[in-house]
Amino acid sequence: MAQNNKTQTETRPTPTIEDYLAIIYVMARDGEKVIAARLAETLEVASSTVTVTLKRMERDGWIAAETGKDIHLTDQGGEAARSVIRRHMLTEWMLARMLNVPWSRVHAEADQIEHAISEALETQMRTNLDDPQLCPHGNPLPGYEHVAADWLPLTRVLPGETVIIRRIHEIAEDNHELLEFLEQNGIVPGAQVEVAEVLPFNQTMRLKVGNQNTVLGFPTAKYIYIEKQA
Ligand SMILES: [Zn+2]
Repeated sequence: MAQNNKTQTETRPTPTIEDYLAIIYVMARDGEKVIAARLAETLEVASSTVTVTLKRMERDGWIAAETGKDIHLTDQGGEAARSVIRRHMLTEWMLARMLNVPWSRVHAEADQIEHAISEALETQMRTNLDDPQLCPHGNPLPGYEHVAADWLPLTRVLPGETVIIRRIHEIAEDNHELLEFLEQNGIVPGAQVEVAEVLPFNQTMRLKVGNQNTVLGFPTAKYIYIEKQA
């Protein structure tokens, strides 16, 4: 048993590296240019710190970074990224379903726990949680990107349309206050909302969820994905 754990911690990157790998994976998945400056902004750390970490990651074979070009995950880096993202998302479900942790809090809690989940435990969680394809916020588990492929950002919806909320993007998941606000206002996956008003000059839109009105700014709305009703 101890032998097993040792082998696993030796092959698995440190929690910090796992966090970097997960963000690089998400940015690459979304077709974003993965550069050090963007990582520093997303991780809220100094760009000098990012530079040092990226050098270490390149040395250890997690990423490939040619001067002046985007950062790419190596095969080993991609595998490690998918692994930590899966552990994160399964942990979110475990906290939500088994411990009734509020939807707005499972992401932050899972950020701490995900690094400590062994492969054996991950397999057990997957089975017990019925092999989910999406996290509680609607983001696809690695390999299930196609499930979310047709959902559109809320900013693409015209006034008067009624749509189903499907997904709050990973970038928005890191904003705890925003998640609490969305939860309180019923703007969560599965909710039916009407786009009541769009004010481009104001960069806002008003949503109706039941009888309740909520105003969202475009910078927030672009991270909320919806499905149009047939
Ligand atoms: Zn999530």
